Amino acid sequence: MYFKLTEEQELIRDNMREFARTYVDPVAVEIDENSRYPEEVIKKLAEGGWMGMPFPTEYGGAGVDYLTYAIAVEELSRSCAATGFTMSVHTGLACGPIFNFGTEEQKKKFLTPMAKGEHLGAFALTEPGAGTDVGAATSTAVLDGDEYVLNGVKTFTSNGPVANTYVTFAWTDKNDKRNGMTAFIVPRETPGLSVGEEFKKMGIRASQTSEIIFKDCRVPKENVLGKVGDGLKIAMNSFDHGRIGIAAQAVGIAQAALDESISYSKQRVQFGKPISRNQAIQWMIADMHTDITAGRFLYYYAAYLKDQGLPFTKEAAMAKVFCAEMCSKHASKAVQIHGGYGYCKGQKVERLMRDAKITEIYEGTSEAQRMVIAGNLLR
Ligand SMILES: Cc1cc2nc3c(=O)[nH]c(=O)nc-3n(C[C@H](O)[C@H](O)[C@H](O)COP(=O)(O)OP(=O)(O)OC[C@H]3O[C@@H](n4cnc5c(N)ncnc54)[C@H](O)[C@@H]3O)c2cc1C
Repeated sequence: MYFKLTEEQELIRDNMREFARTYVDPVAVEIDENSRYPEEVIKKLAEGGWMGMPFPTEYGGAGVDYLTYAIAVEELSRSCAATGFTMSVHTGLACGPIFNFGTEEQKKKFLTPMAKGEHLGAFALTEPGAGTDVGAATSTAVLDGDEYVLNGVKTFTSNGPVANTYVTFAWTDKNDKRNGMTAFIVPRETPGLSVGEEFKKMGIRASQTSEIIFKDCRVPKENVLGKVGDGLKIAMNSFDHGRIGIAAQAVGIAQAALDESISYSKQRVQFGKPISRNQAIQWMIADMHTDITAGRFLYYYAAYLKDQGLPFTKEAAMAKVFCAEMCSKHASKAVQIHGGYGYCKGQKVERLMRDAKITEIYEGTSEAQRMVIAGNLLR
């Protein structure tokens, strides 16, 4: 067993760190304040081959393993969690299911421009009445000739207002709760697809989140993803992959909180000495580093299992719940170390604490992760 990244993984991690320093750090505060989608940064990510990292080069990807991709998400999120999430939801939840379940034709037509970063992807599953309880969805898809007619409202769709390609889900057989939901690939320009309410959020404000409305939206039969009735399976499989990305995002946020805390505590003088000389501060910093390292190894392990072709559902859920809760706890501790200044705009830790919270909610809440873990242990 080797606790060491390969030279290639280290190189890609360092390249992403450099990319984030150069292109993301200079805009991170502004895009948060204005809730602005950083189109120019996403374009640069695309040019650098970062938007389709774990997919084969024949489909426009970079052909690296999932662990390397997750490490890149961590490094990007260390600078800006919203930009890290834009890349992660595009890669894990939109490109991922097309790669894993799509036909050769779908991979060429939809995945290739997405993996090249020419098209941005979104994953529209959640509905106003169906969050954790995915089965409570009400969207329907009715076959009419060679087309399915989609009707329904999806909510909280990340990348929703700016995406080109949506992976979405609707009932093709409402009476079959297990095998009645089907996944579809829907291009943005399809008549009947529109962007509804756009949400103003506490954190990851540069990530764009909206409703997606399907009103008599006609989607050709060939855009069914996987088999008719496989929707629920595809959604759950996509979450397994996506959760590794969210765990990595959480570790990136927590690492940034630690970076800021070390630097600030060495500079801030109270009682005639830097606050870092107090054991109370040292212990917070020691705990942060310990938990971050533990979280990092949890997501590395889940990604490693995935790369080996081994089952990783439980490990992805474990990584996600641990890293998310660890991230929220330590982002709050980082604000504590910064005192009153940490509570005000102008200190990065204020943004980190707001960004941290969402990692406990999306791609399955912490409670949902525990259901997955317990379900695996108790079956
Ligand atoms: C910023 C943001 C981005 C998002 N991006 C996407 C996206 O791109 N695509 C997408 O499809 N969705 C997306 N979501 C939706 C997200 O996945 C859901 O918000 C999440 O799954 C929780 O659903 P809910 O908000 O309806 O909460 P609910 O399901 O109503 O849950 C409320 C609370 O009850 C708890 N709870 C529910 N059921 C149980 C139970 N059985 N046992 C114990 N506790 C339970 C939950 O854990 C939570 O604490 C996003 C959400 C946000 C806020």
